[in-house]
Amino acid sequence: MEKIDLKNLSLHELENLLFSFGKERYRTLQILRWLYQKGIQNIDQMTNLSKNLREELSRRAFISRLSLLQSEESKDGTKKFLFQLQDGGRIESVLIPDKKRLTLCISTQVGCAMGCRFCLTGKMGFKRDLTLSEILNQILGVKETLSSEESITNIVLMGMGEPLANYQNTIKAIELMTHPEALNFSYRRVTLSTVGLLPELEKLAKEKIRFRLAISLNASDEKTRDHLMPINRRYPLREILRVCRNFPLHRRDRITFEYVLIEGENDSVREAKKLVKLLKGIPSKVNLIPLNEAPEIPYKRPSEEKVRRFQEILMEGGLTAIVRKSKGADISAACGQLQGKERGERFDRILEIL
Ligand code: SF4
Repeated sequence: MEKIDLKNLSLHELENLLFSFGKERYRTLQILRWLYQKGIQNIDQMTNLSKNLREELSRRAFISRLSLLQSEESKDGTKKFLFQLQDGGRIESVLIPDKKRLTLCISTQVGCAMGCRFCLTGKMGFKRDLTLSEILNQILGVKETLSSEESITNIVLMGMGEPLANYQNTIKAIELMTHPEALNFSYRRVTLSTVGLLPELEKLAKEKIRFRLAISLNASDEKTRDHLMPINRRYPLREILRVCRNFPLHRRDRITFEYVLIEGENDSVREAKKLVKLLKGIPSKVNLIPLNEAPEIPYKRPSEEKVRRFQEILMEGGLTAIVRKSKGADISAACGQLQGKERGERFDRILEIL
């Protein structure tokens, strides 16, 4: 019988496993603490479980981890981690310090099928979904490298891949990230960023778990978005915004709209004004991200003047608009770059920092 990876089990699945051993619910919580708070590597280290239960568990299950192949630190403190998967695939996570925050950007897929034209991860194509344990082990793997004074404060699911294309594992991962006995992040510190896959977005609105939602928008009309993000032809902007308008938000919560500014494509005054109209009535904030240029991308970053003008128009229109800087440029910290370098190519994904 193939052994079960304990970190591949949702809370409910772990409960069912223990139930099959005739064990009580509180045992599940004890195991969660060992796995996600203490970060143990071996079932035998779960010393508050009986010897019998540990032996039974060891026969049926194991604790996985990712092997860290490489990490690099940039001058601004941004760190990039390249992890090796069991099947030889590689994924990366980026740790971004910003004042009091230490944000970890994690991947949900190997590659990505969305093909956004300004993103080189998109050019890599799609390899496969990450398992639940591969998503969570990025957090645990990075945690292991931190000093006792450091701790990850925020998680953003916006590394390689489209999280909603790996729906079940993404939802289970967020549940464990925010569970008080597991990784215990406040839901306000976990952000899921999506291009807006409509059926999944609608399903997401009905989920019980809480998190912050970010939509990768990048255009204020269908034609421009069709061009920059081919997925828009299937799931158009107006439909995504309709779902956003009805998305159940708690008081003080807002949806983040990410907007990569690309010279001559989506950065005009007219487009800024259209964006103001488009987002009217949605509790939102806009993150403006001037494009991270790369030789393989046929686009340019707008001038600072243009970026400032775009931001001013949004603010005059009553929106909260923040200009985000790319970090870690000297270590290719934009998602996809480290992996690309390993393969002798240069992949360069825009790092969208919340
Ligand atoms: S921007 Fe995000 S969704 Fe689009 S291709 Fe890149 S990784 Fe995929």
